[in-house]
Amino acid sequence: MSSPTHLLPNLEAAISVRHLAKSFGEKEVLKDINLEVAEGEVLALIGPSGSGKSTLLRCMNQLEEISRGAIHLFGTRLGFTEKDQKLYQLREKELAKQRLPTGMVFQQFNLFPHLSVYENITLSPKLARIQTKTEIKARALQLLDRVGLGQFKDTYPQKLSGGQQQRVAIARALAMNPRIMLFDEPTSALDPELVGEVLTVMQDLAETGMTMVVVTHEMEFARNVCDRIAFMEGGHIVEIGPPDDLLDRPQNARLRDFLVHVEH
Ligand code: ADP
Ligand code: MG
Repeated sequence: MSSPTHLLPNLEAAISVRHLAKSFGEKEVLKDINLEVAEGEVLALIGPSGSGKSTLLRCMNQLEEISRGAIHLFGTRLGFTEKDQKLYQLREKELAKQRLPTGMVFQQFNLFPHLSVYENITLSPKLARIQTKTEIKARALQLLDRVGLGQFKDTYPQKLSGGQQQRVAIARALAMNPRIMLFDEPTSALDPELVGEVLTVMQDLAETGMTMVVVTHEMEFARNVCDRIAFMEGGHIVEIGPPDDLLDRPQNARLRDFLVHVEH
């Protein structure tokens, strides 16, 4: 787990994380995280509860302020702007702009209950004003088809199953034309029979070349769809590599221990 004292950011990577640390009060929950995700790569994040997976995703989307280190997305440093070789912290409005190219899907779908499926999907694009009305509509209808929900355009979320709601949440994130998609246990709140339909949508998305980071306990998905798996424990990335290496030939004792308890 030792790392060179000062790793430079990889400005070519979709995601470059360097010496990232995050504390809540006295408690350091992310410790010197170094990670690169290439454009088009799909990375699974696995590990026991409390190991820091959600916090790492939230830092990538600036839902948490980082304590140390740097995150660059497509060569742009999050949270800061550089002028005359000095770094200046960005204000909330500029942070919101930096978040735009990153879509996030949560365990709880977080759809707006008082808005129809179509309204849920078109709300952010309308507010962001980066597409015309015609573009927003065409894109929303295309996305609804893509997640297999074309006929539910005018339905309200509570009429939908959990699997359907999560597919709407994915379409909603995609409506902003993100370059990176972050998923935090997207199938953990679903009844087992509904997990497959959401994973299928995610697999289709991966096949389009989307850069994705997926926190998941679905080891079959991690093995078959993801390019690499990172195992986190105690705020560290303990092991990272291709699925077959990590799942079939784990090097770290704690990873071996973890795998005993999950089906793979
Ligand atoms: P995971 O997603 O792997 O289960 P988390 O990233 O949610 O782990 O949490 C990592 C650690 O950080 C846990 O010990 C958790 O209790 C703590 N933590 C997460 N969010 C907060 C917060 N807002 N305030 C204080 N502690 C937090
Ligand atoms: Mg979590």
